[in-house]
Amino acid sequence: MSGIYIHIPFCKQACYYCDFHFSTNMGKKEAMVLALIKELELRKEAFKDEVVETIYFGGGTPSVLSAAEIDQIIGAVYSNYTVVADPEITLEANPDDLSKDKIEELGKSPINRLSIGIQSFFEEDLKLMNRAHNAQEAEACIALAQVYFDNISIDLIYGIPGMTNERWISNIEKALAFGVPHISSYALTVEPKTALKTFIDKGLIPPVDDELAEAHFHILVQKLSAAGFVNYEISNFGKPGYFSRNNTAYWQGKKYLGIGPSAHSYDGVRRGWNINNNAKYIKAIAQNELPMETEVLSLTDRYNEYVMTGLRTIWGISLERIKTEFGHKFYTYLTQQAQKKIEDGLLYIENDRLLVSKKGKFLSDGIAADLFLVNLS
Ligand code: SF4
Repeated sequence: MSGIYIHIPFCKQACYYCDFHFSTNMGKKEAMVLALIKELELRKEAFKDEVVETIYFGGGTPSVLSAAEIDQIIGAVYSNYTVVADPEITLEANPDDLSKDKIEELGKSPINRLSIGIQSFFEEDLKLMNRAHNAQEAEACIALAQVYFDNISIDLIYGIPGMTNERWISNIEKALAFGVPHISSYALTVEPKTALKTFIDKGLIPPVDDELAEAHFHILVQKLSAAGFVNYEISNFGKPGYFSRNNTAYWQGKKYLGIGPSAHSYDGVRRGWNINNNAKYIKAIAQNELPMETEVLSLTDRYNEYVMTGLRTIWGISLERIKTEFGHKFYTYLTQQAQKKIEDGLLYIENDRLLVSKKGKFLSDGIAADLFLVNLS
């Protein structure tokens, strides 16, 4: 089983914190759709033995596409790949695109999961992040989407400067009141070369406070667990039966094909990434060239990735898999490195799996980094 990720590199405006690849110039949208379809055709050989279980439109903002454009792209997946009978087909959507008509059209398309970029239900937070939607649109679009979609995920951001615990609790409670079955929630991070970084450096926006983010994370875990959500990956919470099949496959190291500028691919051995420039991408594809660089992952790279993703999920790190897939040297290294963390109550072993404890959860990326190997093969 494997997945196809399709990157739609357009956004109406730039959120201050964002370092994804996108353009606010929609002039090349039609040419981009044709290029995406052609890339799907060009790469079908590489996936000829695979069965596609999930199709994921990410971005950027995939909801800037019309339902007809989305249908065309999905049609190209079906004509060039083998797809399971019940694929999960997700579209990331922003509230300002989700008019009644648009949702109705999407409801008739093969899309069966919507991931809505709400981020906050409060005007202050949305303005500080320069989101394109307002608080009223955030609420209205969920109610509208629920008429056509059962499988809805919403994104929420915490640790925003000025966001009190009360406002964060209110955000979570609003999300719960809608009864959505999946929530993805991330701490606001300050990436290099973003407007947010510049504004913080100039003193125009207060710095992000790690302690506030940690407090918000603990509130999030407590409130969503009490409401019946499973925190199946550090930033993802789903009701049973609603875990993202796309993301789960990715965390479990399955193969995926990344289509579109800046999209990443993984075939079990090699990682590839497409050029992150819309014009160059369209030009290369028109010339039947794949504008992609690849690297073969070493055993150490694959071990480090497994440790990182494993510790972020409820499935943890299988010690048996470490032994069989990576060998005894890696197993010995991992168990030795983990010992101190186990003694400190940050990690524990259950059913031959190394897992992060409640105490260690917010720190899991740092804990994983301490278990990484630099040069052992
Ligand atoms: S809508 Fe998403 S991809 Fe576009 S700028 Fe905002 S965060 Fe980035």
